[in-house]
Amino acid sequence: MSHVLFINVFGHGHINPTIGLVEELLERGEKVTYIAGEEFRSRIENLGAVFIGYKNFNELEFNNGDIGLTEMEPQLMEIARVYIGIIETVFSIEERFDCIIYDLLFFLGAEIAKVLKVPAISSNSTFAINDKTNYLSDFFARFGPAVKRLLNNPGFTPVVRHLWDKYGIEVPDLFSLHSLKNDINIVYTSKYFQICGNSFDESYKFIGPSIPDRREPMEPALLEHHRSKTIYISLGTIFNRSVEFYKSCLAAFGDMDARIIMSVGRNINMESFRDIPENFVIMDHVPQLEVLKHADLFITHGGMNSANESLYYSVPLIAVPHFFDQPIVAYRVAELGAGIVIEKDKVSPERLKEAAVSIFSNRGYRQNSEKAGKTLRAAGGYKRGVDEILNIINSRKLNGDLILR
Ligand code: UDP
Repeated sequence: MSHVLFINVFGHGHINPTIGLVEELLERGEKVTYIAGEEFRSRIENLGAVFIGYKNFNELEFNNGDIGLTEMEPQLMEIARVYIGIIETVFSIEERFDCIIYDLLFFLGAEIAKVLKVPAISSNSTFAINDKTNYLSDFFARFGPAVKRLLNNPGFTPVVRHLWDKYGIEVPDLFSLHSLKNDINIVYTSKYFQICGNSFDESYKFIGPSIPDRREPMEPALLEHHRSKTIYISLGTIFNRSVEFYKSCLAAFGDMDARIIMSVGRNINMESFRDIPENFVIMDHVPQLEVLKHADLFITHGGMNSANESLYYSVPLIAVPHFFDQPIVAYRVAELGAGIVIEKDKVSPERLKEAAVSIFSNRGYRQNSEKAGKTLRAAGGYKRGVDEILNIINSRKLNGDLILR
């Protein structure tokens, strides 16, 4: 039996793609310990893994991604607090691990694996990055000054020294995430959908979206309708508080012959919506994978999981990107002819309706989504992911360089 340690940070979009891997590892008789935000405890424990929680970042401050540098600094300090707590936790566990699978944004994972002398596996919940596709460089250019100030902050430098003195952990350069070295890198898309897919070496395993049975029941209200089309709308789980956007959707599609399922997240006051058209169902959360099986169009923020899940079911998209990797995901969808991008400040009921009509009247969007969907379904999913994880663990064991802690 091998013992796999997962370390995850941030929200659902980072946790969801790993769920199938955890289930499959347990199914094959391996042991899994999972470190993540406390709010994911029951979800992970229900799978049968050992869970260690921490108090997650306060996501409220990240609302809509419109953050200035000054507001960003306390946020970064908060992230640093969580990351250091994770390191302390890992080194306090008195069991040995056979590999560490860490979300790439927990960029200290490779260092921890190096110190523990176990294979490092990155979990890439967005497009993989290398020198060619370093699309996060714009993001870092924007927030770089705040990060640099943080690194020079008198409260922070002793922490960096402490990590080195106590654990031998060297904090890597935050601006070179794209050059972190891992034994393998799991990417939840296909080589076809990945930007510059052919520029990645063999350590990158494009396994496609991890689509396990989430066992989320489908409300009958979501299925019953007599309309010709179903449109699903969601801005994901983080930057999803734009009441204005949802109101534009109500105005755009209220008179369309379509069933509209709108997931608005758990932080929106439902009272904000008055005179809801009869063809709309508005909920704070829906079983997205189930809904997509019945959808003809997905209006999304362009989150990596949402885009891949949609294409997996061959559903074309209208993407309204808000932040971080979403523009790059959205424009990749458009580049492959599987959808249309609307910039967030150009959203209007007219523009939304026009884009939806265009997608319904042009068969190319569905065909191109189907083409991408085929590559995603053929990528192997979590079963192939687990094959790759066990291969690397076993080859390391065979080479005899697995050093027990
Ligand atoms: N999701 C869901 N139901 C909802 C809204 C979202 O199950 O009502 C899931 C969705 O299937 C996806 C994740 O939440 O796996 C959102 O991830 P994504 O990367 O698209 O966006 P993020 O939330 O990270 O911005």
